[in-house]
Amino acid sequence: MSTFQYCPHCGQKTIRWDNRKWSCNCGFTLYHNVAGAVAVMIRHKNEILFTKRNNDPHKDKLDLAGGFVDPEESAEETCKRELWEELKLEVDLASLRYISSLPNIYLYKGIDYHTLDLFFEYEIPEKPEIIPELSEISETRWIPIQELRLEDLAFDSQKKFLQDYLKI
Ligand SMILES: [Zn+2]
Repeated sequence: MSTFQYCPHCGQKTIRWDNRKWSCNCGFTLYHNVAGAVAVMIRHKNEILFTKRNNDPHKDKLDLAGGFVDPEESAEETCKRELWEELKLEVDLASLRYISSLPNIYLYKGIDYHTLDLFFEYEIPEKPEIIPELSEISETRWIPIQELRLEDLAFDSQKKFLQDYLKI
């Protein structure tokens, strides 16, 4: 990744990227570690709630609710925070179930963020009232599993997860 041309410590052009970290002859090292992220499959019977992305990357594509894990946060806390921020949905942690994880790449403003996406299922007995956060989501949509088209999804990790988990 050629984002940095000059070492932010010594100012020389001797900074190198090795796929995990930048390092320089002066001893400067900056790790670009894998980021934790959650994706929640909100499910009511045979329907899944998708959001439509209102921003790049992949604007207008379908996404599962979720987002990046904040510092000092558990993945379950991230699910709770993100579903409240994005949908004004109050999560009952007793119904939230971790399923599996997959690596993903999130390209944002020219920088590749390698993530580890943690997939959760959140099964709800009734369709709740949802108030989408319009700065991030243009709309929400309940889609029956049999009508889901994987090519409409924004992220490869979600396509793979849904394909494996729902056997579609
Ligand atoms: Zn340096």
